[in-house]
Amino acid sequence: MSPIHRLGCACGEVQLTASGTPIASVECCCDSCRAAGARLERLPGAKSVLDRYGATRFVLYRKDRIRFAAGADHLKAFRLSAGAGSRRVVASCCNTPVFLELKGGHWLSLYGGLWSEDTLPTLEMRTMTGDLTDPSILPRDVPNLERQSWPFFATLLKAWVAMGFRSPRIDVQGDIHV
Ligand SMILES: [Zn+2]
Ligand SMILES: [Zn+2]
Repeated sequence: MSPIHRLGCACGEVQLTASGTPIASVECCCDSCRAAGARLERLPGAKSVLDRYGATRFVLYRKDRIRFAAGADHLKAFRLSAGAGSRRVVASCCNTPVFLELKGGHWLSLYGGLWSEDTLPTLEMRTMTGDLTDPSILPRDVPNLERQSWPFFATLLKAWVAMGFRSPRIDVQGDIHV
């Protein structure tokens, strides 16, 4: 039996489970994540999203391994611009960022803030470090991938093959603007 991780927003209204091992445990340094993080941090009561290097911590899970157990009606979609293909979904009860979803993607990038420090899966790599003004400031504890390069895509592809090339839909009612 694969372990089931119980996760939730800061106030506990939104609860979800993620089963098994994640696809990857990363920090994203891309322009979009930094812009979105800076805006999401402005929501009332929100905790910080970006670390001191401007990176956002994510744990990537197959969509079919994530279940929303409670409070799904609090989920609201945030888009960087009206026509943006990707959306970031926030628990509006306490403004906890929950996940980033790329249009058509078969995985969700769950925000690292859903985990406590001692349960957060170990960091494996940083992606899109080429978007930083000075990537040399990053620690060298894990591979710092300049773009979303082959090892990253190979990992995602492997998960999609295992899912039979399906991309389940995640329904979210309503939007959030910041
Ligand atoms: Zn909440
Ligand atoms: Zn990013």
